[in-house]
Amino acid sequence: MAEEKGPNFIEEIIEQDLKSGKVAGIATRFPPEPNGYLHVGHAKSICLNFGLAQKYGGKTNLRFDDTNPEKENLEFVNSIMDAVRWLGFHWNGAADAPPYQASDYFGFMHRAAVYLIEQGLAYVDEQSAEDIRLNRGDFGKPGVNSPFRDRSIDDNLQLFQAMREGKRPDGSAVLRAKIDMASPNINLRDPAIYRIRHATHHHTGDQWCIYPMYTFAHPIEDALEQVTHSICTLEFEDQRPFYDWLLERLADGGLIQQPVPRQYEFARLNLTYVITSKRKLKQLVDEKVVEGWDDPRMPTIVGLRRRGYTPEAIQLFCERIGVSKADSWIDYSTLDIALRDDLESKAHRGMVVLDPVKLTLSNWDEVMGAGHQEPCSLPALPHPPEGVESPVRHFKLGKEVWIEREDFEEVPPKGYKRLFPGNKVRLKGGYVIECTGCVKDADGRVIEVLATVVPDTKSGTPGADSVKVKAAITWVGVADGVAAEVRLYDRLFSDPHPDAGGKDFKASLNPDSKKVVSAYVEPSLAQAHADQKFQFERFGYFVADCKDHQPGKPVFNKITGLKDSWAK
Ligand code: ATP
Ligand code: MG
Repeated sequence: MAEEKGPNFIEEIIEQDLKSGKVAGIATRFPPEPNGYLHVGHAKSICLNFGLAQKYGGKTNLRFDDTNPEKENLEFVNSIMDAVRWLGFHWNGAADAPPYQASDYFGFMHRAAVYLIEQGLAYVDEQSAEDIRLNRGDFGKPGVNSPFRDRSIDDNLQLFQAMREGKRPDGSAVLRAKIDMASPNINLRDPAIYRIRHATHHHTGDQWCIYPMYTFAHPIEDALEQVTHSICTLEFEDQRPFYDWLLERLADGGLIQQPVPRQYEFARLNLTYVITSKRKLKQLVDEKVVEGWDDPRMPTIVGLRRRGYTPEAIQLFCERIGVSKADSWIDYSTLDIALRDDLESKAHRGMVVLDPVKLTLSNWDEVMGAGHQEPCSLPALPHPPEGVESPVRHFKLGKEVWIEREDFEEVPPKGYKRLFPGNKVRLKGGYVIECTGCVKDADGRVIEVLATVVPDTKSGTPGADSVKVKAAITWVGVADGVAAEVRLYDRLFSDPHPDAGGKDFKASLNPDSKKVVSAYVEPSLAQAHADQKFQFERFGYFVADCKDHQPGKPVFNKITGLKDSWAK
């Protein structure tokens, strides 16, 4: 469903680099840290990186930035691979290639660190973490050199070796690049590049007790994989000078190849009514505000998937929002519009009754024959894609049907066109009926609506138009309708910027983000397979829940309505 658009600023850079011969082809990467579930913001990064490689005939690496042994694990590694695959991409140049991992390069990174020490470009600092922080200075104040900054190269090599051999406890020393403690860019004030962590790593086990810092590891990973365009979010802009500093030196020393990768920054995705901080999402899960990482209200990829968003819709969404260099908010409706555009021609239609009341056709037996069930049908796809023939849904009309409670009014409000005594409507795909009244319980609540069927008015027969009606209502036969659980989801937050400016995001939780109703669905819907998407006529898009749905015992999740109910 690609849409024509001019090149974005990253595409312009790539096109220039290809034209000038600066690069022969392009390579990008998606480098998640396996410390949580991916969310819609990561989807943007995935679609961008993989999309660019597809567009320019290059490749994209999936690489786990697993330099933080304590926070990472295999559950996250697997969920991330699933998410990328589900979004429709494959990595590292082949359908079944294993992903790369930063930890594969620990040996090289160690050598690169030793090289920097040998060149007088790195030193072991034994100041406390607190002193390092204090001596770094701030925006207006230059930093102060560490008392350990001018150790000899030999001393540094020995100390770094002692760190490597596990002879130093956690936090007792770090290796720092020796750049400039007075640099206006704080990231160049001798950044730490290695730290001591006596921790077991999910991939390298106990092989290492020193681990590279992200800022040191990342450029090296990119360089070793010969990534050409390393695309990241704006908050890494200040890191770019160090990225370039490091790669220039390693290339000078012949440790890595020219041309070295270049980093480019784009604005992260901010989506209204959504939070995308992993830490805050974890809080929602831990405090049971939601029912897990894959709760259909979560903006995680597993949550979006369970909610019924399709990979195509997410890709379309990412294409439409594009990339820019300035932070902005994308309205949540953009995602729903992409979903509707994707499903409009694909999702089978079906009738459901979400708030059922029984309607009895009192003259049915007399006019149609006692116990008669009239076979009815409608196309599953009223506007099928080119060259596709719509399947047909079959259902039956009998003496009793379920209708929506709101489709009957004993005393109709002005302009009401549905059922009220004396009015005629069509049962969609069936007959015209005339309302005659209702039955109420002791509390005055309507428990049954009464009507008569108008013979010879069946949809699709020559007599269909002989009686004019102003409305057609949705319905499900009592005889062949199937009871279903329908989960009506809505936005998790009622504030468009739930956590902006340090706000307490839990203060704006939408109390109506989940409602569960006992509904009736037409027989074709009851046969749905898990994860199958539908348009429920008049209500919007729904999906058969991938965990709880069973054919014959249906459970559906609402994805989104037919229109944006949040528009002001
Ligand atoms: P953490 O705070 O744990 O580092 P993170 O969201 O940055 O969280 P990573 O696993 O490091 O998580 O992210 C992988 C990639 O996804 C990075 O390149 C990052 O820039 C990108 N990314 C993360 N959040 C967004 C977002 N909201 N919009 C666009 N890209 C994002
Ligand atoms: Mg990150």
